[in-house]
Amino acid sequence: MTAEIIDGKKLAETIKQEIKTAIDDRKRQSLPIPGLATVLVGNDPASKTYVASKIKTTAALGIRSLSYELDESCPQEKLEALIQELNQNPDVQGILVQLPLPSHLSEDNVLHTISPKKDVDGIHPYNAGLLSRKYSEPLFYPCTPSGIIRMIQSVCPDISGMDAAVIGRSSIVGMPTAMMLSRCNATPTICHSQTKHLDEICRESDIIVAAAGSPGLLKGAWIKPGAIVIDVGINHIPDETQPRGYRLVGDVEFDEAVKRAGAISPVPGGVGPMTIAMLMSNTLKAIDYR
Ligand code: NAD
Repeated sequence: MTAEIIDGKKLAETIKQEIKTAIDDRKRQSLPIPGLATVLVGNDPASKTYVASKIKTTAALGIRSLSYELDESCPQEKLEALIQELNQNPDVQGILVQLPLPSHLSEDNVLHTISPKKDVDGIHPYNAGLLSRKYSEPLFYPCTPSGIIRMIQSVCPDISGMDAAVIGRSSIVGMPTAMMLSRCNATPTICHSQTKHLDEICRESDIIVAAAGSPGLLKGAWIKPGAIVIDVGINHIPDETQPRGYRLVGDVEFDEAVKRAGAISPVPGGVGPMTIAMLMSNTLKAIDYR
């Protein structure tokens, strides 16, 4: 058996096309179009690449883009003052602060400063709290988990009653993904670095989301035949044969996993493009909260 490949790039293109059509319609009707402010602090090359890619996509879809770059040594007060300014700016519907921040800055305090109505990343504690409450809807669902759910549903629209293993419990990926799986009536098991018998939990799961940031962590032999596997990990492996000196791999032992899974997402070309598409989708939605 060879798994169906869940092509995140293709799925993301379809979603982005729908967003572009909606923006074009708004322009034709002279309705306001959303603006996304990106805030980058410091010189981390990966963060720079992610922000550049988000700005490029914003422009391609006709969304207005405002970009702010602050020095590595930027004090907490200056960053928070910028966010307060953006909270008040009527031309800005979404605020994205690229994480991680330099270590002297408190990410938690920065996230608290963003208005929940402009939290297009969907990670403000207000939105995270609403996500965890049974009868509430967050203003925004977090981007990477939303992309993961869309990918799973692209191959299995109804996951009700399925068992799911989520490897990783971060606030931006693992934990909200588990909550969103539960909202879809699947039964998630949240796994982390102290989890015993990870292999056994995976072997019993119909869905596995690998989000640990550990290359090859999920072994092909741990996958229940026919399971849906979403590889979230982004790991840079030194490789002199590549022009950039490295190659990207996920958290899944892909070559073995593809022989057992029913469907699997690749790295690159899986969750990454979907995360950006969901960010754009949230930015369009943010116009409703003006
Ligand atoms: P994180 O470091 O905040 O969290 C990692 C989690 O994995 C922790 O909960 C930790 O307990 C768990 N973990 C680590 N090693 C483990 C092990 N051996 N067994 C079980 N659990 C283990 O990372 P994050 O921000 O959640 O990101 C996870 C990965 O996903 C990273 O590779 C990151 O680059 C990638 N990522 C991708 C996207 C995307 O759009 N494709 C978005 C966000 C994060």
